[in-house]
Amino acid sequence: MTDVYTPADLPSKIQHYIDGEFVDSIDGDTFEVLNPVTNETYVHAAAGKKADIDRAVAAARRAFTEGPWPRMLPRERSRVLHRIADIVESRDARLAELESFDSGLPITQALGQARRAAENFRFFADLIVAQADDAFKVPGKQMNYVNRKPIGVAGLITPWNTPFMLESWKLGPALATGNTVVLKPAEFTPLSASLWAGIFEEAGLPQGVFNLVNGLGEDAGDALVKHPDVPLISFTGESRTGQIIFGNSAPFLKGLSMELGGKSPAVVFDDADLETAVDACVFGVYSLNGERCTAGSRILVQRGIYDEFVERFGTLAKRVKVGLPHDPTTEVGALVHPEHYEKVMSYVEIGKTEGRLIAGGGRPEGFPTGNYVAPTAFADVAPDARIFQEEIFGPVVAITPFDTEEEALALANNTRYGLAAYIWTNDLKRAHNFAGAVEAGMVWLNSNNVRDLRTPFGGVKASGLGHEGGYRSIDFYTDQQSVHITLGAPHNPAFGKQVPDEEIAEASEDAEG
Ligand code: NAD
Repeated sequence: MTDVYTPADLPSKIQHYIDGEFVDSIDGDTFEVLNPVTNETYVHAAAGKKADIDRAVAAARRAFTEGPWPRMLPRERSRVLHRIADIVESRDARLAELESFDSGLPITQALGQARRAAENFRFFADLIVAQADDAFKVPGKQMNYVNRKPIGVAGLITPWNTPFMLESWKLGPALATGNTVVLKPAEFTPLSASLWAGIFEEAGLPQGVFNLVNGLGEDAGDALVKHPDVPLISFTGESRTGQIIFGNSAPFLKGLSMELGGKSPAVVFDDADLETAVDACVFGVYSLNGERCTAGSRILVQRGIYDEFVERFGTLAKRVKVGLPHDPTTEVGALVHPEHYEKVMSYVEIGKTEGRLIAGGGRPEGFPTGNYVAPTAFADVAPDARIFQEEIFGPVVAITPFDTEEEALALANNTRYGLAAYIWTNDLKRAHNFAGAVEAGMVWLNSNNVRDLRTPFGGVKASGLGHEGGYRSIDFYTDQQSVHITLGAPHNPAFGKQVPDEEIAEASEDAEG
């Protein structure tokens, strides 16, 4: 491996952005950010703690209670959001370059994610002006309508896989609905998040509406979750972290949106178009370096086509092009961080005791340094194997045969996760029945992972709580206050108007007297 690439004009340090200013941590602390190709430190980022979070939340709170943003017309906020989308689109190449450098994602895939980030802003910009809320009339008696109100300071906590895009997924609806925010991006990949500040300033977002605090999850993330002035937490990350955040939010009764881990099945029946299914399964698990929450990381294949599927899959997996992240021909780049590399490699070793290795199984040739894992596949994996049950979050797949549809369903549902499922069959009835029965928040039938932004996004079981996407995101970031007005005579059963017995008695005594 030669030619280690470094983008021009990298920042000399990464700071927080609070109340319209770039600032260091109050205690001056920093942490190291590594280049995934060399594992050398390329920049230091401010390590936020409770004091920095307090400062950011105070700024966001001020912008919410005193600033113009929550009070602006949806059309005015929409214009700012469209400008943000325009700027992101116009800088997609630079964003992709920095994202790919920081995360190890292949540049072509990082470019797609940058464009999707712009689309997220454009989508919510359109949605809030089209937003209509319910009004109900009870003829002649009552009128009821809904006031939709931003909630306050939203705490946004994001992971390191496709960081910029996932940040946009939360920032778009949180800002569109008039909230102010504190973003705590993942500590492995803080580079692209630092670009939001400039983009938002240029687009005219008022000061204090967007605040960014870098730092470790246990410090900055924890302080954000436990801050009493942050009524909403939108979190994407591991299921285990989600559980901790749930617990820490409980005393404050916060609104929570949780997008968590996955171990999604791709189910291939013997009547499927085999070549398309194999191509989709290869892409489904190795794209984004396998660091994808919705990766089809368990492939269940019907017995009649199993051997052929395994052979074709193994052949393609060995041909997947591993390369430097900035090379446009690269299909799998370097994993994000040495800690994550160690985790994925430990599963590769476990897999060797649990399945039949048909591709990969270690470092790819020609990449002696950096976080490189060859696209790896194990066949004949039993359903109780760890590589079948646990989220690996790397380019590693478990392939398992099945005989009947019932068995396929039992296998598909046999993990604690329930994020996505991919089903390959040409039997229409089976496709729909299986989709309805599989325990997954999202199902793709004869399809790669392609999602219209209006559809619900989210998982069931250990994969998450609540669904975002389209109006569901608007619902999460707003209060829906209902207002009831009487039109006719008030329905007014009056209390306290019964004449007490003693008054009646007195009245009759008077009459007698
Ligand atoms: P992670 O849970 O380790 O970290 C996510 C974020 O939480 C980071 O910003 C981290 O600093 C912060 N954090 C960690 N501990 C915290 C704490 N105690 N309090 C508050 N914040 C804390 O996850 P990761 O390794 O960055 O991301 C990979 C995981 O994310 C995988 O499990 C993947 O499936 C999941 N993911 C899910 C989706 C989805 O939409 N369902 C999308 C992408 C990634």
